[in-house]
Amino acid sequence: MVYLDNAATTKPCEEALSAVMTAAEMYGNPSSLHKMGIDAEKLVIDARKAVAAALVCPPECITFTSGATEANNTVLFGIAKTYGRRLNKIVVSAAEHSSIIESAKQLERNGFEVVFVPPGRDGVIDEQAFVDAVDSNTFLASCMLVNNETGAIMPVKKIFTHIKRLFPDCMTHCDAVQGFLKLPIKAADFAADLITVSAHKVHGLKGVGALYVRKGIRLTPLLYGGGQEKGVRPGTESVPLIYAFGAAVRKLHPEMKTAYSNAEELNRRLRTKLSELSFVTINSNADNFSPYILNFSVPGIRSETLLHFLESRDIYVSSGSACSKGAKSPVLSAMGLSDKLIDSAIRISFSSMSSNGDVERLATAIQEGYMTLAKVR
Ligand code: PMP
Repeated sequence: MVYLDNAATTKPCEEALSAVMTAAEMYGNPSSLHKMGIDAEKLVIDARKAVAAALVCPPECITFTSGATEANNTVLFGIAKTYGRRLNKIVVSAAEHSSIIESAKQLERNGFEVVFVPPGRDGVIDEQAFVDAVDSNTFLASCMLVNNETGAIMPVKKIFTHIKRLFPDCMTHCDAVQGFLKLPIKAADFAADLITVSAHKVHGLKGVGALYVRKGIRLTPLLYGGGQEKGVRPGTESVPLIYAFGAAVRKLHPEMKTAYSNAEELNRRLRTKLSELSFVTINSNADNFSPYILNFSVPGIRSETLLHFLESRDIYVSSGSACSKGAKSPVLSAMGLSDKLIDSAIRISFSSMSSNGDVERLATAIQEGYMTLAKVR
């Protein structure tokens, strides 16, 4: 099997699987005052430390959520509730994941002014264009670190530093899901007040994520209840998922640099192979892009058709973004790609577990796919 859909989700690592079992057996409620509760709480504390170490921030700044979707919703609605009374505007990149875009559209329906800043033709958000959209009426600016469809790396640090210099009251949020444990992220030098990450993109399990909240930021919660996670995310903590998240982070964090070099090498190889195939157009630039994601098109063969051909060869890839399920990609459209290129776009995404053999098998199968499918067209 060749699994190249790691931007959609990753295979849980052994460490995460074993942690999930350990924590499921230690089934005390972390809020209980007795020993079983305290033992469960220790597991949550352990995971919080691991995620905080990876983001280089104090553990108290980490709030566990049910995933990045919840973290992103908490940011948009929570910041709007706290800070959106005097000020009325938010600025988000148009390349964001649907959990940001749809939340922003909902805020728009609720009467807020929302500006969506499109990426340039290269897929990257332009620093000046983003900053120009922010003004003294803006209470939140949100820009992702790595785009999930193309791998474009956005100049988040520059954008946020620039915004903070001009408008210190504007909150800054980064959805760092596709950059976490791939690119170095230090919460403090990012000039970000809030950062979203998700466990299942880093070999943890689905259903858990984390939100970094800088000290002093007041976030109105989406839910009300028992006051867990400092009241930002009440509800009994999913100790097994949280502990497994911590275990995955502890495993991957020290290997980040090696894994990055491996992804760079795989990306280079795949680019070379694809550039030898005259019928392939590569949509992800080589510069300013994460080596973990490569988007390309085989014009004339619909994404789904090639995807299923590859699946028949036991190779798993994605057509654009897995979350958009066939909808035309607004990110590729904003990059000025023709409908033909968009309709035939394929996204492959590596993880620390990907190998040269995966690239070889993919390249061979794409060639076979083209020969077979182009004939039946
Ligand atoms: N943001 C980005 C950039 C993503 O790629 C994803 C997952 N596709 C999410 C948010 C949502 O993450 P989760 O599945 O943890 O809700």
